[in-house]
Amino acid sequence: MKNASTSRNRKRKRQKNPKPSKEEPKETTPNNKNNKKSQKETKIYQHGGGSSASSKRPKSSNFLDLLRERLSGGQFRMLNEKLYTCSGQEALDYFKEDPEMFEMYHSGYQQQMSNWPELPVNSIINWLLSRSSSLVVADFGCGDAKIAKSVKNKVFSFDLVSKNPSVIACDMSSTPLESSSVDVAVFCLSLMGTNYSSYIKEAHRVLRPSGWLLIAEVKSRFDPNNGGADPKDFVKAVCDLGFTSALKDFSNKMFILLHFKKKEQLNSNQKKIEWPELKACLYKRR
Ligand code: SAH
Repeated sequence: MKNASTSRNRKRKRQKNPKPSKEEPKETTPNNKNNKKSQKETKIYQHGGGSSASSKRPKSSNFLDLLRERLSGGQFRMLNEKLYTCSGQEALDYFKEDPEMFEMYHSGYQQQMSNWPELPVNSIINWLLSRSSSLVVADFGCGDAKIAKSVKNKVFSFDLVSKNPSVIACDMSSTPLESSSVDVAVFCLSLMGTNYSSYIKEAHRVLRPSGWLLIAEVKSRFDPNNGGADPKDFVKAVCDLGFTSALKDFSNKMFILLHFKKKEQLNSNQKKIEWPELKACLYKRR
């Protein structure tokens, strides 16, 4: 009896002061000055299954489902962090060894996206639909290749793993496309690797003169007040590479849209380009 009540007390204590889990970094907000990590990372709360499951606590018959959901949520957050903190080549090697992890990443990603009021990929699709379908498109980091499925244009879709035959598996810093062969290069939430500038250089290589570079990124990655890059520095770096800025749209709460046009002529002064660091966009479990 004594032992049972001691263990009950211990349990109660544990519930009062739960140990922070490694998977649940402390909340970081712009005002949380004590948390140094907030300077380098963006955190977005993970919604969907995870949060609804915790608000409506399931009966014990659902316990295994809840456990599975938590495990896959944890794996998604781990993979997401990995993609933001390694190079494209490292990410390619990682998924080559374990393609199932890519499936895991994408089901978590889809769950995240289901909570965004508006998807940036739809803005890009609408932009393409408003123009000639003869424009050839390269979708860098295409995910489930929604662009290719939604427009009549010829679309080359690239990602680390090919989930369907239309997707070319590669590290997008080195695609099999010919130089000056496409009209539109798209990066929709895909500037993830530490070497992201090499993806934009590859887009510059494959774009025809006057071709379009369309970038959609998580807004907080470009919030200098919260450790994000200054959008001006990013736009300047892209322009120094050989583009002119055509659109800077910060009106959406979740993402920014940046459009550029490739210059007709190569930049004459080949000075070193200062690419700002783009902080990782991490997801936190509620
Ligand atoms: N553009 C899609 C998917 C965004 S998720 C959409 O908007 O829905 C980001 C995608 O970029 C992931 O599928 C990831 O695998 C891919 N990605 C990240 N780094 C990459 C790289 N170096 N080469 C190819 N794809 C990459």
